[in-house]
Amino acid sequence: MSVKTRFAPSPTGYLHVGGARTALFSWLYAKKNNGTFVLRIEDTDLERSTQASVDAILEGMAWLDLDYDEGPFYQTHRFDRYKEIIQQLLDQGDAYYCYCSKEELDSLREQQMADKEKPRYNGKCREHSEDKAELNRVIRFRNPEEGEVVIDDLVKGKIVVANKELDDLIIARTDGTPTYNLTVVVDDMDMGITHVVRGDDHVNNTPRQINILKALGAELPHYAHLPMILGSDGARLSKRHGAVSVMQYRDEGYLPEALLNYLVRLGWSHGDQEIFSRAEMIELFELSQVNVSASAFNTEKLLWLNHQYIMNSEPELVAKHLEWHMQQRGIDVATQGPALVELVKAQRERCKTLVEMADASLYFYQDFTEYDEKAAKKNFKSDTVEALQALLNAFNALTEWQGEVLHEAVLQTAEDLELKLGKVAQPLRVAVCGTAMSPSIDVTLSLLGREKTLKRLERAINHIKEKNS
Ligand code: GLU
Repeated sequence: MSVKTRFAPSPTGYLHVGGARTALFSWLYAKKNNGTFVLRIEDTDLERSTQASVDAILEGMAWLDLDYDEGPFYQTHRFDRYKEIIQQLLDQGDAYYCYCSKEELDSLREQQMADKEKPRYNGKCREHSEDKAELNRVIRFRNPEEGEVVIDDLVKGKIVVANKELDDLIIARTDGTPTYNLTVVVDDMDMGITHVVRGDDHVNNTPRQINILKALGAELPHYAHLPMILGSDGARLSKRHGAVSVMQYRDEGYLPEALLNYLVRLGWSHGDQEIFSRAEMIELFELSQVNVSASAFNTEKLLWLNHQYIMNSEPELVAKHLEWHMQQRGIDVATQGPALVELVKAQRERCKTLVEMADASLYFYQDFTEYDEKAAKKNFKSDTVEALQALLNAFNALTEWQGEVLHEAVLQTAEDLELKLGKVAQPLRVAVCGTAMSPSIDVTLSLLGREKTLKRLERAINHIKEKNS
């Protein structure tokens, strides 16, 4: 049977890195086995689910380029089917109406706690089969009382749970709406899911889900429960550890490839290899090699990986993502400055994130309003005017605007003025970039172009003259 996996987020917030790792592992396993990957939106909790969260999840999946073969399916579109299955379970005697009031259940729980027993439903309504629709009632699954459930978890190994540990689960609420465990089971069955890959916060639900699947005569999927992700302090990863939303990583200048590479290594390894292309991940990934213990999120390592990807990816790919950051800064790269691919080549060694790269490249596209104070103080002296003027003349005389020629012109000017190269190149850099940090001067000037360079040289000359007058 061909492999079919699914990612089944509840749209109650953004796509967080834990969810993204679950999606990735599920996606990888499907891809590796030439299988099918399904996206299912579990939106039956009408109070907590929002369209904004659905959009955020879809946006996150698209940004990570985790493409799905089927879906997105929405559970809210499938209420009729859940009703049908609940009715089937009632007809089969595998479910029953429960009329116990909240007060009754609360006092049962209190009594059990006082007796140091595990709180669980006592099965009081098991034997009343009549349907008194006028009364408030839920529907419970009749869990087997004997025997045990065995899960051969692909990550955690064998898990055995005795049926007497499990009470009769509510599958429909008083308003008739189905609960999570029921909808998941129906969907996994109807969609022919062969491998359920999900966070281990669901491991307690699995024996209950297996019992319902058995009652429905469904084939059981394999299960793989992924250990959770911790923050640097060992507590469960949360907002207080920094960014946890996938899209926040985009906003902070990470490449999706870097984040995916980071996530694949969270709980999975292949020797001591750190960098995996998508193709390698698909080829090498094995659910059976996923760590049993939780892994800690390490922001420093993610940053290192991001820089590796910025430096070593095709510049076209980096440029595509950088363009988004430039647009955020109001820059139209097509009309305002150099080709982004060239910019990436010039900046990638020095920038660990695309935010750093965008911020350090604005002067190529738009005039800066002020000179960096320290850089100007150090490099703009009254005698700098002469050097800048000489450069202006030399550049004006050039018939070609190209790295080598520009480099030559700067060298020649320094020589003519009997100045060290730095005494000419640094003021020039501050004059055209506004700061003392830029790629090498020939690359900077050729990216900047003739027009901007000449204009900014003139502006700097006037600025220094004015300051010293
Ligand atoms: N909707 C569940 C969640 O977001 C996942 C259910 C599952 O994977 O079975 O936690």
